[in-house]
Amino acid sequence: MKITDLKVAIIGDAPVVRITTDEGIDGVGAGETTKPYLKPMVEFYRDMIIGKDPTDVERVMLGIRRMGSFKPWGTAVSAIEMALWDIAGKAAGLPVYKLLGGKIRDKVQVYNGNVRFPRSSNEPEDFAENMQKMKDHPYNFSIIKDSVSFHGGMHRQMDDFYYGTPVTTYRYPNRGGITPKGFKYMMKRIEAMLDVLGDDVGLALDCGPGMTVSDALKLGRELEGSNIMWLEDMLTGDYSPFVLADLYTQVTPYTSTPIHTGEQIYLRQNFVELIERNAVNVLGPDVADVGGIAEMKFICEYADLHGIQFAPHGTFDGLIGLAAQTHMAAVLPDNFIAFELPQAKPEWWLDIMEGERFNVTDSHIEVPDIPGLGVSFIPEEAKRYLREEDTGFFDN
Ligand SMILES: [Mg+2]
Repeated sequence: MKITDLKVAIIGDAPVVRITTDEGIDGVGAGETTKPYLKPMVEFYRDMIIGKDPTDVERVMLGIRRMGSFKPWGTAVSAIEMALWDIAGKAAGLPVYKLLGGKIRDKVQVYNGNVRFPRSSNEPEDFAENMQKMKDHPYNFSIIKDSVSFHGGMHRQMDDFYYGTPVTTYRYPNRGGITPKGFKYMMKRIEAMLDVLGDDVGLALDCGPGMTVSDALKLGRELEGSNIMWLEDMLTGDYSPFVLADLYTQVTPYTSTPIHTGEQIYLRQNFVELIERNAVNVLGPDVADVGGIAEMKFICEYADLHGIQFAPHGTFDGLIGLAAQTHMAAVLPDNFIAFELPQAKPEWWLDIMEGERFNVTDSHIEVPDIPGLGVSFIPEEAKRYLREEDTGFFDN
């Protein structure tokens, strides 16, 4: 089998990849719904993969993997990798998880990172009320992640949250020490959320990036003894194009609160320091940024050998990304906790693709058995959402 084309369309703001072959089998992959600007980056790889056998996934990846980078640039390579597995699965008549070594669980656990309700204000009781709604959600989430510190925009909620001057219009204000007043403000809101969740649901907190090492350690220690699943991206993470494992080694060994990072990191090589130095307790790469499904498995296996757990990022990965995450989670070793549930947004995604629905029951999704990723476009329906320049996306 040979790859005949790599097509990219922006559907609902997500860069969507479709790889076609000379045997009529096609495969799909997608990047985050926040990255429509990546279309040219995906197209960049077209000539590097045409003519290759898509079922030799690793050989195709060796040809393009080096030409990628940290978030957001790893998305293109990752989406192509998903589409290759989709083709390989369809060609073999097997679900993708079978090609990855076979599943070790029939249901995979997901956590709430984006099922949200508008919060009327930012008082502790508002955080509590909001958390109660998330706790009562019919998906019955076992872990809920909320945002505090810089990630939660607390530097915008009060004047003197931190010592520093924001210099960017992007979401986070670089870095800075949190003021005593700011720290109390944050703790009150965390405590309000913990009160609501009690022992029923674990609370994860996305915190940065931008906190100092000492503030990160202070927060970890303050929260010892509570049901915090992990503190995410306090020092780096999100869109920081670097790792800085050394900073984490100044925090993680000194608190029993689990420390988490990794969503922006591209390729297994960039996890070596974090893993070998036990710089964090939990890693959270994103299948749509790290380099793909198999890349996640390599990293998770190596982390497992070092006693590090795995709670993958995935909030904006959409329906195709959800399919990729589900197959991936089925084959990960026992250090897998849960992945961040993406949603089919806008909801018409469920009208333009057929196959698996990935319904969530008690915070779990059943692993699908349809060959490939388990979701395929219904071209007649999907065409309605194509942009004018993408109208040929479903041709051939
Ligand atoms: Mg995060």
